[in-house]
Amino acid sequence: MHELSLAQALVRRIDEEAVKAGLSKVLRAELRVGPLLGADTGLLAEAFRCASEGARCAGADLEFSPGPASAVCLVCGGVYVPRWGDTRCPHCGQTEPRILEGADLILAAVTGERDD
Ligand SMILES: [Zn+2]
Repeated sequence: MHELSLAQALVRRIDEEAVKAGLSKVLRAELRVGPLLGADTGLLAEAFRCASEGARCAGADLEFSPGPASAVCLVCGGVYVPRWGDTRCPHCGQTEPRILEGADLILAAVTGERDD
C-alpha cells in the first residue's frame, strides 16, 4: 500500500527533525503534498497514526497543503504545471515530460514540546 510506505518514511523524517530541533514530542507537522504523488491524505493520515506508534511523533496532527508542481516537455521544451492523471504538454500535446517537481511529500515544518 502506497500510503503506508509513505507514512513509514514520514515517521522517520519527522523524528529526525524532532531530534535535530530537540523536541521530545511532536505535536504538529506541516506537509506539502505534490499533486503527482497520487496520495490520499486521509489514508496517509490514518497510516501515519499506525506507523507512528511509539515514535516521537505519535499522535501528532498532520496538516496537508498542496505542493508545487512543474514539468518540462521533452518534445517542445515548454514548461507547464502537470496534473495527476494528465501530464500532457498543453503546448504540443505530447506526453513526454520530465517532472521537475510535484511528485514529492515535503516536510515543511515540525512543532512540538522541547526536552527540558
Ligand atoms: Zn510540448
